Amino acid sequence: MGPGARFLLLGRQGAGKGTQAVRLAARFGVPHISTGDILRAAKTSGTEFGRKAAAFMARGELVPDDVVIGVVAERLAQDGAVHSGFVLDGFPRTRSQAEELERLLAPEGLSAAIDVDVPTEVVLRRLSGRRVCTICGAPYHIDAPPKVGWVCDKDGGDVVQRDDDTEAAISRRLELYDRETGPLIDFYDEQGLLLRVDGVGSVDEVFDRLVGVIEDGRRPFGAVAPSALGLSAR
Ligand code: AMP
Repeated sequence: MGPGARFLLLGRQGAGKGTQAVRLAARFGVPHISTGDILRAAKTSGTEFGRKAAAFMARGELVPDDVVIGVVAERLAQDGAVHSGFVLDGFPRTRSQAEELERLLAPEGLSAAIDVDVPTEVVLRRLSGRRVCTICGAPYHIDAPPKVGWVCDKDGGDVVQRDDDTEAAISRRLELYDRETGPLIDFYDEQGLLLRVDGVGSVDEVFDRLVGVIEDGRRPFGAVAPSALGLSAR
C-alpha cells in the first residue's frame, strides 16, 4: 500500500487548527498529532520533562527545537504513522523543525501543508474567550460554553482557560508566529506543497473548504494533480 495522507496545518494560534485537524484526521483515517496536546499531557503527568516544557508554554515561548523534534520523531515512529499518514497540528513552528521533518519523512515527503488563514484581530477575539477541557482538550468559548456549567460535554472534565491564553502570553505567541512560523508558508509554497484556506467562518464552512482544496487538489493560484497529493487514504 502506498503512503497515506500526510498533512500539516499552519495558521495562527486560534485559527481553529486543532478543531479542523481532528476532523481531517477522522476523514482521512489517520492520527491527529498535536505537539501542544502532547506537551500538555506531559505537564499533567508531572514528569521532569513535562515541568520544563510547561515553563516555556505558560510564558508563550516556544519549547526548544531539539525537545519538540524528539517528541515528534517518537510519535511518527509509532504505528508506522510516518508512512501510513497523519495530520500534524502545531508542528513545525520554526525553519529548523521544518527541515528536520523533511528528513523524518524522506523519501515520501508530505502530501500538503495547509495554511488556515485568519487575521490577527479575529484570533485575538477567539483566544481571549477560549476555554478548554482539562481532560480531552475539547475547545469551548465564552460565547459557546458547554451545555452544563463549565463541565465538558464529552467527558465531564473541568473546562478552564489555558495558562497561555492570558493577554501577555497571547501577544508573545502571535509575535513568535509571525516571526518564526509565518515564513514556513513560503517555504512550503516554494516546494509546491502549500494549500491555503480562508479560516474565517463556521467550523463546518472552514472544514468544507479544507476538504474542497484537498480533494480538488487545486490551489487558488494554480493546479496540482490530485495524484501529486499522494492521497490513498480515501
Ligand atoms: P499549541 O497548543 O499548539 O498552541 O501549543 C501550545 C504551546 O506548546 C506553544 O505555545 C509552545 O509553548 C508549545 N509548542 C507546541 N508545539 C510546539 C513546537 N512545534 N515548537 C515549539 N513549541 C511548541
